[in-house]
Amino acid sequence: MSDIKEIDFYDLFDLEYIQTLQDDFSNATGVASIITDTNGIPLTKPSNFTKLCFDIIRKTDLGYENCCKSDAKMGEGLENGYKLQKCSSGGLWDSGTAIIVDGKHIANWLIGQIRDENQNYRDISEYIKQIGADEEQAALAFNDVPQMSIDKFKKIAVALSSITNQLSKLAYQNILHQRIIEKSNRVETAMVDSERKYRLLFENMTSGFALHEMVYDNGNPVDYRYIDVNPAFEKLTGAKKSDLIGHTVKEIMPHTEQYWIDTYGNVTQTGIPISYENYSQEIGKHFDVWAFSPEPNKFAVVFTDVTAKKNAEEIIAAKNKELEQIIFVASHDLRTPLVNIEGYSRELEYSINEIIGKLELQKNISNNGMILDLKADIRSVKESLAIVRNSTKQMDILIKGLLKLSRTGRESLKISNIDMNLLVSDVISSMEFQVKSISANIIVERLLPCVGDEVHLIQVFSNLISNSIKYLEVKRPLIIEIKSYREGNNVVYTLEDNGIGIGIKNKDKIFELFYRINPKLLDGEGIGLTIVRQILGKLNGKIQVESDFGDGCKFYITLPAG
Ligand code: ADP
Repeated sequence: MSDIKEIDFYDLFDLEYIQTLQDDFSNATGVASIITDTNGIPLTKPSNFTKLCFDIIRKTDLGYENCCKSDAKMGEGLENGYKLQKCSSGGLWDSGTAIIVDGKHIANWLIGQIRDENQNYRDISEYIKQIGADEEQAALAFNDVPQMSIDKFKKIAVALSSITNQLSKLAYQNILHQRIIEKSNRVETAMVDSERKYRLLFENMTSGFALHEMVYDNGNPVDYRYIDVNPAFEKLTGAKKSDLIGHTVKEIMPHTEQYWIDTYGNVTQTGIPISYENYSQEIGKHFDVWAFSPEPNKFAVVFTDVTAKKNAEEIIAAKNKELEQIIFVASHDLRTPLVNIEGYSRELEYSINEIIGKLELQKNISNNGMILDLKADIRSVKESLAIVRNSTKQMDILIKGLLKLSRTGRESLKISNIDMNLLVSDVISSMEFQVKSISANIIVERLLPCVGDEVHLIQVFSNLISNSIKYLEVKRPLIIEIKSYREGNNVVYTLEDNGIGIGIKNKDKIFELFYRINPKLLDGEGIGLTIVRQILGKLNGKIQVESDFGDGCKFYITLPAG
């Protein structure tokens, strides 16, 4: 029942009750009575109808038609109150009042079929003839029509008007009541539906979920009791829901570490959620945990088993360590023979230069064919030697690079909160000479702090800024901009230059060991960015670059926020 315009009389009233009311009213007052719709169609059964109207006039076609017309006419304008009129069919007195619910005219309650003291059969005898009814019977029936003064009939009409007013109000209250019931039904259905959805999620999620109640001793959290757990919780912990609910964690797992209880106690007392990774000795697994307090004294925990991930990370870390050790040993051991090659080839070069000098001095035999051949051979040996020396130099650079890389990898970290404004300005000051000599403009915005190792972060920013200087575009003055912004639990530093750029296809390669876009362009080893990436990895951060050739490049350095 959403809108009053769509409802009708039968929806609003209990027909049986209305019929009884109507019958009782007619019996008490002696007037005929019926309720019709606004078109004059009867909704209730007639009460106390006179023989004259019911059995004689209405039984003729014309009479019935006139009765309906008269009833419809009575209905017109009833919304403004009750009406009194002589029936245009039998000429008896009629009255009516409207039933109006929430402004809508629903029905008419009509009463009447009475005659006043001045009316007699002669008044209607012509009409009876006209409609073709039995005159004799009509005259007898007329005598049975209740007689009453207009004044009394008016009073009855007024009383009826009060009754229909009350009925209208009652119906309206019924509607409102019905609406409230429907609304609350809708809310209830929606709640049941959403409860069902949450249940489904709760039952099927792969993360463990448990709701607990904190147990205190003297205001200190000492234990917690299970209120509800989902199937994933049972699977992850190996404990059964039926064994858990109502019991405390200390009863179930007596060796539970105090830090779990302290942490959850803190969440429950402060209402501040927490997310962290931890190892549970009792269960023997690593968990990624998210705890929050949905209501006072209670806390919920959502957790995921990250043991496999943790183990894989440990294996990778061990392998990396091993690899760094191999690189260190190999590069260290390779340097010894390299030093020999370098030393002896320098000596060889020296001796060859000596021989060439001496041969040049032997002018008299210089045209001797054998000597000429010897000179040519020696010159080619000299050329080969130059290649050997160049290669050993290259090899030396590479080995030094490898050593540098393995050294950075093995260095221990000192993690602290870093004021990046200070750190970056120190780096720039240490490069002041270079910056001034090329008139570079370095713009640094106020930077957010991060968590990291100071020495290593100095290395990161020195490398990046010196690269921007090294790879500047000579056609324009160098501008470097350093900014920062927050991204979840991290802070991202951006370092943008307007140098020669990198080109989209090199954006990952430049972090590879020994990779240089243009090896001939300037001196360099191709390990600076590899070390930068290695350091950031150790600090739980990362580096990415965006660039197009000729448009400079922008590095994004992500680190845990401070
Ligand atoms: P290096 O500078 O010693 O060659 P890096 O590892 O620091 O080694 O850099 C690798 C390569 O990435 C460089 O050779 C250069 O081609 C490119 N590169 C690095 N930084 C920039 C930059 N700011 N602008 C343009 N190219 C760069």
